[in-house]
Amino acid sequence: MNKIVAKFGGSNLKKKEDIQKLVRVIKAYDKPMVIVVSAFYGITNHLIKSMVEVKKDESHIETLVHFLRQLKAEAIEENFESKEWQDKTMKAVESRIRELSRYLTGIHYIGDVPEFVEDVILSYGERLSSLVLAAILQSQGIDAEEALPEDMPLLTDGEFGNATVDYDKAAPHVQERLKENKIYVVPGFYGVSENGKVTLLGRGGSDYSAAAIARCLGAESLDVWKDVDGFMSANPKLVPSAKRVTQLSYAEAAELSYFGASILHPRTVEPLKEVGIPIHIGNIDAFDGIIEPRTVVQATETVTEQIIKSVTYSDDFCILKLRGAGVGLKKGVLAKITVALDRAGINIKSVITSQVVINLLLSAKDIKKAFDIVEKLELSAVTELTATEQLSTIAVVGEGILDQPGVAGRMFMALAQKEINVRMIVSGASVVASYFMVANTDRDAAIEAIHQEFFD
Ligand code: ASP
Ligand code: MG
Repeated sequence: MNKIVAKFGGSNLKKKEDIQKLVRVIKAYDKPMVIVVSAFYGITNHLIKSMVEVKKDESHIETLVHFLRQLKAEAIEENFESKEWQDKTMKAVESRIRELSRYLTGIHYIGDVPEFVEDVILSYGERLSSLVLAAILQSQGIDAEEALPEDMPLLTDGEFGNATVDYDKAAPHVQERLKENKIYVVPGFYGVSENGKVTLLGRGGSDYSAAAIARCLGAESLDVWKDVDGFMSANPKLVPSAKRVTQLSYAEAAELSYFGASILHPRTVEPLKEVGIPIHIGNIDAFDGIIEPRTVVQATETVTEQIIKSVTYSDDFCILKLRGAGVGLKKGVLAKITVALDRAGINIKSVITSQVVINLLLSAKDIKKAFDIVEKLELSAVTELTATEQLSTIAVVGEGILDQPGVAGRMFMALAQKEINVRMIVSGASVVASYFMVANTDRDAAIEAIHQEFFD
């Protein structure tokens, strides 16, 4: 039987006592496996802030070192019985924090953060987690070992800040490094380029690193542990009657993740889909000694009676509208725009076109910059350029949504009855999702209306 890869995220590492829950789960598996860990809750954000401060003021290095040392000392005190293990682990932590502070000193003196240094610095949140967790497991007599991505190496395409793992190239190395029958603890969030540089896998990327490792190992499953009950038919904070979704196809999980369901990183499905490795989502707060997934994501595509499995949302959408009688006819308009936006590092979330309008769906943080860039292009086919305020995108997801007559009708009828104005509709681009945009203020009512129509 192949190994299981289990991932524990920042939400499993909020308080110092959380680690005990994690250890209990690992013990319940009772077999060799690979554990991928994130940084403690909020630490990556803290490192980002410190990096900016350190550039200007050296004293921030000491502040950060002190903060991390304190945080780890508390976790160590809480989680080790013997003084000997405590001292030994603290010494290893100190030495890792010293490595980090050397990078910080470097950026202070050059007054800049080169991207390859930024990626190394931000990987330290995860490195501190894996070091401490491996030591805790060892101290409890478990055959555990920390394994760093650079020692495999977990090879990526080399893009800083947002790399993609090269599964084929990395697989033999990962298999070789993790081949023994023990528990390996791997820091998530980064891999390394062919020339040995640390490359981050994007914010929230530990899920994706765990998925990439699972792919390289041909794992039995990827088990992602959360502190909530897996995927739900809607956010239970908005819809109290929301139900747990026990099963999703890869496509459904990917759409839901992309449109804001914060259960999985949107890229988690990517490495696993092709090879059919299932994702099991566990809830650490509901753990009662038995390893049992709350949601299973796998290749099977099931059409349920309701058709719709979940409705989710993202508030981070703005539309850049390019109007002109000829935009649909003239060649090269989109090419010029996409190249220019790509050069500026702006991600286009979606493009929706008609013969007379091109709509670019962008993140709120990019809209102003994108507007300026497109305006400067002075495209002759474009007679009017406008940017909308921030809108909410609501995604309605379920296998069969396109094949079953009447689903869209019911959706928009339900919205109309609540007098919700729909600003844009996209259907057909994905076979498992329809999405539409509404004003932020209509978002909650729209979700409630859709959920009620299909579930109640
Ligand atoms: N610690 C990283 C982040 O906050 C990766 C992760 O949590 O998955 O982005
Ligand atoms: Mg995370």
